[in-house]
Amino acid sequence: MARVQYTDWTVPVSQVGSRAGQQMELDRTFPAPPGIGDSIVGVDEGADIHVDGRFDSIVDGLIFTGTFTAPVHAVCSRCDTPLDGDWSEQVTAFFPYAEEQPDAKRGGKQDGDVEVIAGEDEAEDVYPLIDNGSFADLEALIRDTFVDALPLQPLCRPDCKGLCPQCGADLNEEPDHHHETTDIRFAGLEALKTQLEAQQGGEDTDGSSDEH
Ligand SMILES: [Zn+2]
Ligand SMILES: [Zn+2]
Repeated sequence: MARVQYTDWTVPVSQVGSRAGQQMELDRTFPAPPGIGDSIVGVDEGADIHVDGRFDSIVDGLIFTGTFTAPVHAVCSRCDTPLDGDWSEQVTAFFPYAEEQPDAKRGGKQDGDVEVIAGEDEAEDVYPLIDNGSFADLEALIRDTFVDALPLQPLCRPDCKGLCPQCGADLNEEPDHHHETTDIRFAGLEALKTQLEAQQGGEDTDGSSDEH
């Protein structure tokens, strides 16, 4: 028997789990579990995540439906504009009773996750009940909900032009921004090219930088 672990994310549900057709409201704030995003976009561990929804008992488990709201920190991946704000996600999850083996064990990052993701939009997400159905564990559900929802590369707007790679100027504010002088890295290449051409005994190279 796996050892039952009660955490900040376990919710007592035995009052609805006893028979089908019962409901239990859940309106509570949970600490954000670790592992949601990174420094670019994510939810800080321990931040308040508000869960507002309910459990409905059916024959073979509990259905949770509700809304998760979390303070998401983010910066535009192109121009570094802060995009912090509350995100709300609609959640539907199935917590099967133990007799019903879930198709995929969830509970954090797993190597096999990639294969599960294929049909995920079709099927309900499945999460564990523990201690013979007395508690629902929301940790993985909270984490997965926001990990799935967060963009890999947040943008302040779809066509953000980003920053000048040379001086950091915001190209959204200065659409005509450019540099006349040759980048020093290209100046080095230019010198090498000149040198190679000289070695090849090619035509006269006057070192002009307007060849391309
Ligand atoms: Zn931007
Ligand atoms: Zn610049």
